[in-house]
Amino acid sequence: MNKNAVETNKVNELVELDKQHFIHPSTNPHELVAKGPGIIFSEGKGIYVKNMMDGKEYIDGMSMLWNVNIGHGQEEVVDAGKEQMSKIAYSSAFKGFSNEPAIKLAKKLADLAPGDLNAVFFTSGGSESNDTVIKFARFYWGLKGKPTKRSFISLNSAYHGVTLAAQTVTAIPAFHEFAGSNIDEIFHAKPHLLNCELGDKTDPNYEQSIRGIIEREGADTIAGIIMEPVQGAGGVNIPPEGYLQAVRKICDEFGILFIADEVICGFARTGKMFGVENWDVVPDMMSIAKGITSGYAQLGGVMLNDEVRNTIVDYDGMLAHGFTYSAHATACAIALKNIEIIERENVVENVQAMELELKKGLAFLAEKHSIVTNTRCIGLLGAFELYEDPSRGKLFGEDVFPANKVVDECFKRQLILRALGAHNHIIAIAPPLVTNAEEMEKIIHIIDEALTTFK
Ligand code: PMP
Repeated sequence: MNKNAVETNKVNELVELDKQHFIHPSTNPHELVAKGPGIIFSEGKGIYVKNMMDGKEYIDGMSMLWNVNIGHGQEEVVDAGKEQMSKIAYSSAFKGFSNEPAIKLAKKLADLAPGDLNAVFFTSGGSESNDTVIKFARFYWGLKGKPTKRSFISLNSAYHGVTLAAQTVTAIPAFHEFAGSNIDEIFHAKPHLLNCELGDKTDPNYEQSIRGIIEREGADTIAGIIMEPVQGAGGVNIPPEGYLQAVRKICDEFGILFIADEVICGFARTGKMFGVENWDVVPDMMSIAKGITSGYAQLGGVMLNDEVRNTIVDYDGMLAHGFTYSAHATACAIALKNIEIIERENVVENVQAMELELKKGLAFLAEKHSIVTNTRCIGLLGAFELYEDPSRGKLFGEDVFPANKVVDECFKRQLILRALGAHNHIIAIAPPLVTNAEEMEKIIHIIDEALTTFK
């Protein structure tokens, strides 16, 4: 048998095994079993990933799940992981045990994070971070003698993860429909109602605003407000200028913790090290994950400001919360190297420069294609929308799935993007933060071609 035939046999066998045994996350299971996986990744370099099924290279226009910030194939990161792993398989962080990479990473994060976010509790990812943040906020208020402060406000179309508590603050209906929501005392506010949050009670949306909800429920019942600085999976929704500052003020006014979910925005994605820095806001707690390791290992965390940290460390009992993989030494060593590369390679500056290229590209697409509208980006977190008639705000029919169609056409041209939105009308673009101008041009060119085929 020649080499190609061997490869084909191997791929066919993998596809069959996948269909039989692999339940995929956030995937239509019926379709997966009928069609098999869409791609089997074999390797990656920079912004490119290779598909074992056709042997071709694709542009990773979404940094996989908005997380491969420094791109694929960074050998230094691999070496850092290998070196740490060869020292010790795993080391517990329970009962005061510690390890060097975790200590150094905690200090590095304290230096990097805005304001007085000087301490970190490590997790393995974003959902665990948001469950942790909810539990820590309640624990904190209990320690402050305010045990009635247990509720949280999050924003409609927020994505905060899928573990039970994180999923409940997530406000994309499909995730609640899956298996129900599991903690009470969560209120979803309408996002980005700047006027209401500034106190305009004549606004017809006032009751659905954060301010309106606090007034209705009573600040003595509310522990925290959690939000992504820029919503990711909910459609790449960038808040209006002044919104985050207004929410910060509300939190100060009513004595509520401001919790920023920086799982996507963190580690340079928005052209600042953390998303909140775009608006000079310092949260009380901050969830981090994804870009902390650029996906080379699983790691997340919750950063605490001095007030929350000091209150917690005054507690002379056991902190009854922790994951086996909290502060995993290999993941922490990888995070340290990842952050070193972000700083050394001026990734923040590259994102700022590439934001301009992406904006230019999106403007070109909107100009050329009449169905493209609502283009937006901050850093390398961008999106555009597809309407049958943008001037009348007319969406395509429910059976059209326009974003899927364009994403499929991009895929045929070896560019991976992602369709979002309840009406399947949003396409997200979030390539690795090391993308250069030529690569950005290529991305826009492929989208242009894909849109041209759209009927
Ligand atoms: N928060 C945000 C803003 C996210 O985008 C995600 C993941 N997409 C999560 C939390 C959950 O993270 P994980 O999938 O690592 O649990």
